[in-house]
Formats: sequence, structure tokens, C-alpha cells
Amino acid sequence: MLAVASPRWHRLLVVSFALLTVAGCATAPETGRRQVLLIDSAQEAQLGLQSFQKIKRDTPVSRDRQANAQLQSVGRRIASVVNIPHADWEFVLFESDEPNAFALPGGKIGVNTGILPITQTEAGLATVIAHEIAHVSARHGAERMSQDLLVQVGGTALTAALGSQSSVTRDLAMQAYGVGTEVGVMLPYSRTQELEADRVGLLYMARAGFDPNEAVGFWERFQAENRGSGTGAPAFLSTHPLDDARIAQIQRFLAQAIAEYQAARR
Ligand SMILES: [Zn+2]
Repeated sequence: MLAVASPRWHRLLVVSFALLTVAGCATAPETGRRQVLLIDSAQEAQLGLQSFQKIKRDTPVSRDRQANAQLQSVGRRIASVVNIPHADWEFVLFESDEPNAFALPGGKIGVNTGILPITQTEAGLATVIAHEIAHVSARHGAERMSQDLLVQVGGTALTAALGSQSSVTRDLAMQAYGVGTEVGVMLPYSRTQELEADRVGLLYMARAGFDPNEAVGFWERFQAENRGSGTGAPAFLSTHPLDDARIAQIQRFLAQAIAEYQAARR
């Protein structure tokens, strides 16, 4: 339908092209995948901070000292091997039975108490946190927002929408980062983003000194839990779709991760 593009779409294409030229080119860390990103990392971090503040107001925080201490320790170790601009790391354990975890730009990581029986060990928890941090470093939220902006916002509104005070940007951010009426309901990551977070996360946990072999165990326990629950997929599964490709891919990159793990321990 390119031949009969309406003036509105024509305008959108022109503005989009200009933005793509100025700010759109990026590559994902470790994998080198090309991405379209229309939001800079400072704007993104600001949106993440606002969303995290809302989630903290709406969700009880766990007072379990031991679990909190483990989350802080594992979280800091992984964050120390990752260089993300504008990151102000914060790791919060939320009191919720849903086996879920999430990450927001700017380095805001939330883990639900409901996932701890599945993570079991420090390395199990490291698998989850490294996966979430990989979503942040690869800027998967900004990538989704950029795709939504290109699809939904017309011509002249696009430039205005990219201003941090714009309600359009806010709405898209709410959608992308799941701060709607119900906390934790996020748009699913694409299969590409999901597998990328697994692959990059595996390297991060290894560099932080956690045995990457344990990532396989975690995802197997997680799969078993999902099959046994029978009440439909838990939240982490709907935002982090699971398939057989996941464990197969981890096994493909395991040798590289083990080499990095051994190098990190020397
Ligand atoms: Zn994920």
C-alpha cells in the first residue's frame, strides 16, 4: 500500500525518517542486533523512575531480611559487570505470590517473593536478575515504545510526543512498562527480545561469578512449575514467553558463558 500513502502517512514517514537519521540507529549489546530507538536513555530512565515509584506505592514490599539481603547482594554483583548510562540501581523485593520479576530503564529491578521457591539458590536468583538486567541494557522497553510511536502517532504529533511532558509519551510508557490499572501487567516481550535477554543474561551472570550451568536448572524448574500449576500461566510467563527454544539456546551459549565464568573467578 505504499503507492497510495495518505498525506498523513507521508508526513509521518518524512518525520520518522528524520528521527531515524538523527536518533534511531543502535545495536544491542553482545548480540549486535540492529534496533530502532527513538527515545534517548535519559528520557527512558526518567520514565522508568516514574513507573517504579508508582509500583512501590501500589505494592507491599517484603520485610524478609534474609531474602532482601540476598537480592541486594546478587543484584549489586550483576549490576557491577554491566555499564548502563543513567542507571541508578535499585532492587526491591515485592510481597506477591505471583512468580514474577521485572526491570525498568534506569536500573529499577523488582522481584516478587513468589519466584523465590523456584530460584532456590543464589545462582537461580542471579539467572532471573541477569535476564531482567539484560532487558534493560538492550533497551527492550525503549524499542517497544519506538515501534508503538511509529505505528500509532501521526506526522506532526510525533515530534511533540517525544517531549518528556507529552501525555502521548506517558501513555505509551505506561503501556510498555506495565504501569496501568493493574501492576505487573506488561506487554509481552517479543520472542527475539526474550531470547536475547536469556543469551545476554547468561553472560552477565557468568561475569559476576555465578555458575551459568545453574540457569538451565532454573528454567527447568520454572517450566515444571508452570506445567504443574494448571491455573493458567503466571505473570512472568505471560510477559516472558517460554518455549523449548529457550533452554536449547542457553545450552548453545553455555560453553562461552562457562569460559567467562572461569575467567571471572581467576
Ligand atoms: Zn524476559
